[in-house]
Amino acid sequence: MTKPSPEPKGLYIIDDAHRKTRLSRCLGPVNPDFILWVNADHEPTTEQVDRVVAELQTRDIPDIIVGIGGGTVLDITKAVSVMLKNPGSSAEYQGWDLVKYPGVCKIGVPTISGTGAEASRTAVLLGPEKKFGINSDHSMFDAILLDPDLLKTVPKEQCFYTGMDCYIHCVEALAGRFINTLGRGYADKALEYCTNYFLSDKKNDEELMVASFYGGCSIVNSEVGVCHALSYGLTLTRGLHHGEANCIAFNQLEEFYPDEVAVFKKMLKLNNITLRTNVLAEVTSDDMLKMVRMTQRMEKPLTNALGENWRSILTEDKIAALYNKM
Ligand code: NAD
Ligand code: ZN
Repeated sequence: MTKPSPEPKGLYIIDDAHRKTRLSRCLGPVNPDFILWVNADHEPTTEQVDRVVAELQTRDIPDIIVGIGGGTVLDITKAVSVMLKNPGSSAEYQGWDLVKYPGVCKIGVPTISGTGAEASRTAVLLGPEKKFGINSDHSMFDAILLDPDLLKTVPKEQCFYTGMDCYIHCVEALAGRFINTLGRGYADKALEYCTNYFLSDKKNDEELMVASFYGGCSIVNSEVGVCHALSYGLTLTRGLHHGEANCIAFNQLEEFYPDEVAVFKKMLKLNNITLRTNVLAEVTSDDMLKMVRMTQRMEKPLTNALGENWRSILTEDKIAALYNKM
């Protein structure tokens, strides 16, 4: 007789905002040792991922990981899954297609909509010098579960900022050179759902959740653009969350996306959102240089947005001037 195979070992990685939501009630039967609560006040770092992986390696590593939360938790889940099966530090895999071995099986359950992290092939992490994704097919979830009821507890401002990430993904994908028919189909529909959501009083959470997923699918088949290239610098030096950083950058990008910025401003007004201003008022010259360098590292998005000669359009002075408007 063959021996029964041992029970698969699961690990839940959950946004700690859910300690206070109804979701926590569903976790009753789960052994607390198999839950890792993550605080999403700060964007995930390579060091944080390495720490979690080192801790998991001291016990039986899980066979399956379920990430429940926003882009922060979903990206940690993806990165931990990959790093449990690949040697070294997660910082060594920030780039394109550097991951050799498939990660641990992973399931994503988004609880806030916009980043498209549930669909994308990247796990975005802050490293000491750069914010960059582990871009790899191995970063993709094996399965996702979309339940719009999970969005009910998201604070209004955060819903807007993260939702605008989806809007900006679609705008940048559609305006870019890398788009193909598949990506355009996803981006068109996501843009329609997302814009309807933020331009009307009747909020359809199901459509916003699908918009986020489609927006992510569109980015898989295209690239982001100027806004993301600038927003990464804001997060790196100011610690601003991705959605808010995107909004602050996009607000200054009329010359690149004129019609889309006009619609964005309308959405800001209708949703009573006041953006922070002068976020770089006290920036040091070292930090400004770090931000300019970060933007210049975003070669793919900038080529997508501006073409091969993007360096002559987005010169160092131009990048600094755009930052100074924020
Ligand atoms: P987030 O995950 O940082 O969460 C924002 C806030 O919302 C946090 O305070 C969190 O606790 C709270 N929250 C989440 N769900 C909630 C719920 N249901 N109820 C109450 N509060 C809730 O926000 P985000 O905008 O989804 O993710 C940003 C991160 O995603 C950044 O690190 C960014 O780099 C990354 N990102 C990744 C991709 C990708 O393709 N992998 C794409 C875009 C952005
Ligand atoms: Zn984004």
